[in-house]
Amino acid sequence: MDYEAVIGLETHVQLKTNSKIFCGCSTNFGVSPNSQTCPVCLGFPGVLPVLNKKVVELAVKLTLALNCRITPNCKFHRKNYFYPDLPKAYQISQYDEPLAIDGYLDVEAVKIGITRVHLEEDAGKLIHTQEGDSLVDYNRCGMPLIEIVTEPDLKTPHQAYEYLTDLKSILEYLEVSDCNMEEGSLRCDANVSIRPVGQVELGTKTEVKNMNSFKAVERALSYEIERQIKVVQQGGQINQETRLWDEKKEITIPMRSKEEAHDYRYFPEPDLVPLEVSQEWTEEIKTGIPELPQAKRQRFIEGYELPSYDAEVLTANKSLANFFENTTKFYPKPKMVSNWIMTEVLGYLAEANLDISQSKLTPTHLAEMLELIDSGTISGKIGKEVLPEIFKTGKSPAEIIQEKGLVQITDGDEIVKVIEQVITENPKAVEEYKTGKKETLGFLVGQVMKLTKGKANPQITNKLLQERL
Ligand code: ADP
Ligand code: ZN
Ligand code: MG
Repeated sequence: MDYEAVIGLETHVQLKTNSKIFCGCSTNFGVSPNSQTCPVCLGFPGVLPVLNKKVVELAVKLTLALNCRITPNCKFHRKNYFYPDLPKAYQISQYDEPLAIDGYLDVEAVKIGITRVHLEEDAGKLIHTQEGDSLVDYNRCGMPLIEIVTEPDLKTPHQAYEYLTDLKSILEYLEVSDCNMEEGSLRCDANVSIRPVGQVELGTKTEVKNMNSFKAVERALSYEIERQIKVVQQGGQINQETRLWDEKKEITIPMRSKEEAHDYRYFPEPDLVPLEVSQEWTEEIKTGIPELPQAKRQRFIEGYELPSYDAEVLTANKSLANFFENTTKFYPKPKMVSNWIMTEVLGYLAEANLDISQSKLTPTHLAEMLELIDSGTISGKIGKEVLPEIFKTGKSPAEIIQEKGLVQITDGDEIVKVIEQVITENPKAVEEYKTGKKETLGFLVGQVMKLTKGKANPQITNKLLQERL
């Protein structure tokens, strides 16, 4: 029998605000433990939460981009559980009346339903030391989170990967989150079940946690689907349970079963009034939504006549897309700019683990360098050597070329001098060429290049060498 997978994702995203969701504490990451806490986020008796307006603004922005309907009067609930990282012994979250519902995201032309988007506060962080001590840092307690839950509309691990990539790109375009997975500002739980192809009813799902990259989500889902199929094929049944992804062993392991699932005893948060997002405010937030990745991709394909692959790569990241567009303003050959960005620039950034916005290369630098290549001042090959220097120093290409003496030699007399030297030093190759072995020319040109450190203009060298021989 053939089986198909059904996948639904729950993604937690930390919103990019200066202060926490219900108090005035700072949201800085990486500062000393418990330095960003106050009676509210530490859950002292008698304190009252006050909702951060910026949190709602960012969340609404996202729900609009995800085509959701905003609930006119949504409520907060207490989700009760006891754990040392949660000083109040409850988390303020949303339950049956979330901020927004019924949205969708187009992933590679397939509509993936967004069931709901809700607001909640993060818990603190436990640190278990080598010595066996457990420490707690409450800085993260009360950080603003949104949870985005999809319909079970995803069918393959790859599609889940694409959904997350697209979602992340939207979050970055909207500037609602840093989406830094290492710092935990984006986390995803994956729900998956299998069913015989053609069956409408859903199978029993498992939920996989603890993946720290989108690729890990994809791998964990592939593993889990295979595991479930094997269980069913051997006559077994899938237990509804939560499983953990073990990155090293590349397997999922059981964490807790449905019977052990928490009863959170949700009840309405009595210290917060219902949240009303007015039509007027919604409209105002809407005007702050920039061109989103899919629209930009389409415009790059049509407006700059780029292949869809180029458009996809260039628009995955807003600062990269801006970099591309700004470069073409100074150097209006889009495909050429795209080629250099996709190979040389992205290669360098990946190696240095930098975003284009953090690098010293500017659009004017790149445009200027491409001009220098066009005008024959330097060769493309030299250009590839100049680029890393710009990244390192932030100097202009002209400056670097001057300093390093990299200007291309186009002066025939100068090249002829080098040709003479090459001919004297390589009598055998010259002889071969003269007796009809024409490929030897390439070798001789190569020797000229070597002596000039790649600076001799190749076309002129070729021509002069043939004339001389
Ligand atoms: P729970 O109550 O366990 O949290 P929900 O109904 O809230 O379950 O769904 C959580 C996530 O799991 C959603 O993304 C949903 O699309 C997905 N999901 C629900 N049922 C299934 C299923 N049978 N197979 C795969 N995913 C599912
Ligand atoms: Zn606080
Ligand atoms: Mg749920």
